[in-house]
Amino acid sequence: MSEVATIDRDAVMVVLENIPDPEIPVLTITDLGIVRGFADNPPRVRISPTYTGCPATVAIEMAIREALDGAGFDDVHIERVLFPPWTTDWISERGRQRLNDYGIAPPSPSATAECPQCGSADTEEVSRFGSTPCKAQWRCKSCLEPFDRFKCH
Ligand SMILES: [Zn+2]
Repeated sequence: MSEVATIDRDAVMVVLENIPDPEIPVLTITDLGIVRGFADNPPRVRISPTYTGCPATVAIEMAIREALDGAGFDDVHIERVLFPPWTTDWISERGRQRLNDYGIAPPSPSATAECPQCGSADTEEVSRFGSTPCKAQWRCKSCLEPFDRFKCH
C-alpha cells in the first residue's frame, strides 16, 4: 500500500469558499451553509443538500467536483450528509446581506418580507412558485417592484 498524501484541509476549504451557488451566483456554497466540513479516511468534504429534489443539488456537486479537480484535489471525495437536514437558518449573515443586495429577500420565519428595493414591509406574496423551486414570487406595494423571496425551509 502506498503512503496517502496528507490533504491540506485549509486549502480545500478555500476552494469551497470560492464556489458560487449555481442558482444564485452572488452566494458561495459556504454562504449557503451547505458545507459541513472536512473529514479523513478517506479524505472527503461533507455537504448537505439544500432542498430535496432541488435541481441545484446536482449542479452544486458537479461544481465542487470540478473545483476540487481543478485545484489538484482529485483524491477528495464528496459525501452527502442528510442529518441534520439543511435549513435556511444555515445561510450566513454575509449570505443574507448578499441575497438582499441581489434583490432576493432572505428567508425569515416571519410571514411578511421586506422589499429588497425600497425596504418597505408592505409586500405580498404573488405566487409560491418563483423563478426556481427554492423561491417564491413577491411584490412590493410601495414601489410596485416584483421580487423573489427565498423560501423558508
Ligand atoms: Zn419596494
